[in-house]
Amino acid sequence: MSARAGIVVTGTEVLTGRVRDRNGPWLSDRLRELGIDLAHITICGDRPEDMEAQLRFLADQGCDLILTSGGLGPTADDLTLEIVARFAGVELALDPELEERIAAILRPLIKRWPHLDPEAVLASNRKQALVPEGATVLAPVGTAPGMAVPAGARTPAVVVLPGPPRELARMWPDAVASPPFQAVLARATEYSQTMVRLFGIPESEIAETLRVAEEAIGDGFSDLEITTCLRRGEVEVVTRYEAHAEGSWTALERVLGERHGDTIFSTDGSSVDEQVARLLDGRTIAVAESCTGGLLAARLTELPGSSAYFAGGVVAYSDAAKAALLGVDAALIEARGAVSAEVAEALAAGAIERFGADVGVGVTGIAGPGGGSEAKPVGTVYVSVRTAGGEPLTRHLTLPGGRDDVRDRTTTVALHLLRRQLAGGAPAPR
Ligand code: ATP
Ligand code: MG
Repeated sequence: MSARAGIVVTGTEVLTGRVRDRNGPWLSDRLRELGIDLAHITICGDRPEDMEAQLRFLADQGCDLILTSGGLGPTADDLTLEIVARFAGVELALDPELEERIAAILRPLIKRWPHLDPEAVLASNRKQALVPEGATVLAPVGTAPGMAVPAGARTPAVVVLPGPPRELARMWPDAVASPPFQAVLARATEYSQTMVRLFGIPESEIAETLRVAEEAIGDGFSDLEITTCLRRGEVEVVTRYEAHAEGSWTALERVLGERHGDTIFSTDGSSVDEQVARLLDGRTIAVAESCTGGLLAARLTELPGSSAYFAGGVVAYSDAAKAALLGVDAALIEARGAVSAEVAEALAAGAIERFGADVGVGVTGIAGPGGGSEAKPVGTVYVSVRTAGGEPLTRHLTLPGGRDDVRDRTTTVALHLLRRQLAGGAPAPR
């Protein structure tokens, strides 16, 4: 059995949507890395009864571990510790050493605000030095310490973390190392997790493939926990299984390969962005973008080490800029239209020329409302990829959705074209 966890995100600002929750998703990733099964993420405001209800709910759901975020500050609405102590049925006691430690953090801050009453500040922060009986103190990153409260007879272990995402992340290693957390980990089973990524295939086809696999594998199929998800036009198939189900996974992998070998581009978790960076193999790349407004350049510069291969990019919206900055023939634009395969190819050539790069990408299309026509509706995009002196590889796309969808999908298609072009005639890299 895998250990099961729940996350309680607190804060009225998160509940109301003024602040978007970043801690839930971040913690979810960390738990997955540790092989802990996350059952629920709940969000509540700064109301004690609501938070307590969520702790009870997660305990009733059989969680072995609850993580909380937020509400550790010095103000009256920061109530998390009090509620967690009550939930765990333990007393809070002042830890003088911790009190001194927090005071030491605060003294220089107090000096910067001469109008504050230092006694009042220290008094309100005394509250942050209250420790639930038996808990491990997690050293403060800001002023607030976190706490790891061990499991009780009827309550799960509770790890209390601060709200500011940076503080929470920095406290995480201490949280994992704490005895209450380690006790949960000791009961957790080892899981393997694999990810297969496909491009150019509807999610429905995977559903059909999974039905075929279920028939082929039989009983062992239920030992695989399979989730499929459509992201940026790519389908991700994530499979989690215990050691004894290794054979079932191998069988599933075979079925996936047989049916979708041509669209599978990654079986090791690598993204197309990473694969393109690797395939460039010392070559440099430049881009010329119209409708994507620099988003392809942004994606190509996201990976560590990108300064070694990304030469630069031009965002050329106007025809004049396409001609002046990228050497696109004005007569060609006139004859074919700015949104055309020929102009995308000329943009790619122009990017190579302008930056002295080895590889170029040109993107031209209609992403936003207002720009479309009957012949070229919104979502019409041309993407062209070429190496210096080589033949262009160009695609005409008709993409659904609004501006963001069109732009996002276009950058993904561009990266997949790049991958194709750079891999040459070789079989698709896995
Ligand atoms: P502080 O001492 O700063 O008050 P705290 O532990 O009490 O810390 P909160 O008061 O809950 O934390 O949150 C402080 C700020 O941190 C919030 O106003 C918000 O900007 C950010 N924050 C809190 N929770 C989240 C979250 N789940 N996702 C993103 N940001 C968050
Ligand atoms: Mg606070």
